[in-house]
Amino acid sequence: MHEYSLACEIMDNVISISETNGAKGVNSITVGVGKLTHVNPDQLTFCLESLVSENIARGAEIILNEIYPEMECQCGFSDSGKRFCTTDDEVIDDIRVFLDVPCPECGEMMQASGGRELIIESIDIEQ
Ligand SMILES: [Zn+2]
Repeated sequence: MHEYSLACEIMDNVISISETNGAKGVNSITVGVGKLTHVNPDQLTFCLESLVSENIARGAEIILNEIYPEMECQCGFSDSGKRFCTTDDEVIDDIRVFLDVPCPECGEMMQASGGRELIIESIDIEQ
């Protein structure tokens, strides 16, 4: 499963960061997930939660922060993709939501930038 290998990679990083900082435990892990990464947030959370039970991060709260792409137009207009997203609470596994979006200022098609990140935003460690 795609999400499982990603979760393993994230967890490896969490463990090495925790060890480097001499952590006794991990309170929470905040992961930024771009809307265009094709990662299912629920599955990723589930995988991370099952992985933390086996290591220093046992019991850590998993926080997923969804990152929207920035919509940009050649006329200079730009705004968060969240504004153009009508399926706010649903998993967006279809990147077409962010394609073919006309600019509200000039009507030209906008470009989506970003939203492909999968990063550890922060780790709250217990020292
Ligand atoms: Zn425009």
